[in-house]
Amino acid sequence: MVNSLPAEFYSAFLSDAAKERKPSPIRGLYPLEQRPGVISLLAGKPNATTFPLTSVKLTSRSPTDPGKEIETEVSGKALAEGLQYGPTAGLPSLIEWVYGLQEREHGRKKGESWRVSIGGGSQDVIYKTVATMVNPGDSVLIESPAYAGVLPMFQALHCDLVEVETDAEGIQSSSLRSILQNWPDNKPRPKVLYTVPYGCNPTGMTATLHRRREVLQLAREYNFIILEDDPYYFLYYGDAARYPSYFALELEQPEVGRVLRFDSLSKILSSGIRIGFASGPEPLLQALDMHTAVANLQTPSLTQAITFSVLDAWGYDGFKAHTETVSRFYRGKRDVFERAMHRHLNGLAEWSTPEAGMFFWFKLLLATDGEEGGDSESIIRTKAYERGVLALPGTVFLPRGGKTAYVRASFSLLGEEEVEEAVKRLRKTILEVRGA
Ligand code: PMP
Repeated sequence: MVNSLPAEFYSAFLSDAAKERKPSPIRGLYPLEQRPGVISLLAGKPNATTFPLTSVKLTSRSPTDPGKEIETEVSGKALAEGLQYGPTAGLPSLIEWVYGLQEREHGRKKGESWRVSIGGGSQDVIYKTVATMVNPGDSVLIESPAYAGVLPMFQALHCDLVEVETDAEGIQSSSLRSILQNWPDNKPRPKVLYTVPYGCNPTGMTATLHRRREVLQLAREYNFIILEDDPYYFLYYGDAARYPSYFALELEQPEVGRVLRFDSLSKILSSGIRIGFASGPEPLLQALDMHTAVANLQTPSLTQAITFSVLDAWGYDGFKAHTETVSRFYRGKRDVFERAMHRHLNGLAEWSTPEAGMFFWFKLLLATDGEEGGDSESIIRTKAYERGVLALPGTVFLPRGGKTAYVRASFSLLGEEEVEEAVKRLRKTILEVRGA
């Protein structure tokens, strides 16, 4: 049995809004319906016999034999559940599947003071977590550059975004330590640190084991919770063995409960299906569920039922085999893109090779003497676009704004010829700027 932080510990980590939120008067009573013998007059659930869907038939490629198809069907009791309102945290069958997955992947056992909540993509649960934990004006530690999709969450709360430098090994733990050591006395200490440890969006970098251990140690020393946003976890294609997640690594600590992990099925099953999940300390997830109960009652039951039916038919080994196929696919895409960069951008751009995910983060070398500096913003938005290539200027990933010569290129979709042409167009753009 692991040692867990006590439930009271988390009250300091809840936002005022989360503390004031009352449980949904109806949803809070749902569990009582389950007692055998109880006749429930509770919920305003429509009578599902009036719903016209009689089954949902699904066909998927076999994870182990691409020539074969696997047929599954959501019908009977599973369909009835899928068509009806369900528990706020998610469909029990899918939640059970997630428990099994987290035990396999991260060595975390069900019942040891952590829980799962399913969301409409990981974005949904991340957003709700931020609203559940962060008050307007709070300080937030955030890796820089950071996933642009979370910045508006913190900015809308007028958070003081404290940027933590990153490099090819992930968060620079020594900078983080120095930030925390020199924290001004008159400023409230940060409650959370946000990071994407595998194939970071936008930098493509994967945090090393050493850095992960140090960041976790700092979380303990300086009392903050790590928001581990890991949608590219299954898209790791590096040569070395995979590093344990923060969620797994905290088992090395004297007590667990400082990691709230976010997973996503968007990059491996479907992004349109909108399924992600949060795994972490029970009191935080309870507060998150209370937010869900107000915001959208729950993640769609049918989507969850469909997802579960496919995952269940595959089994965990099938799921693993599928994720390995997907990560190999992206490794191939990375190689194609990098070869084109070597051909056309040597001396014109600098980059590190990503080992997970779908992004190259590269610096435009705009000065002929290789001098630092420059701003990719207008070059990418105007000159490159005029030449018919669209990428993301690095500024959109800087939590506190500013200039950067970096650019994010996504290599997930293009074939070899398009990559070749895109990179050539980037080359011409840089040469044009240099010549100007
Ligand atoms: N976090 C990161 C780092 C992402 O890159 C994305 C997707 N772009 C998300 C979260 C949101 O993913 P989902 O589709 O699961 O909501």
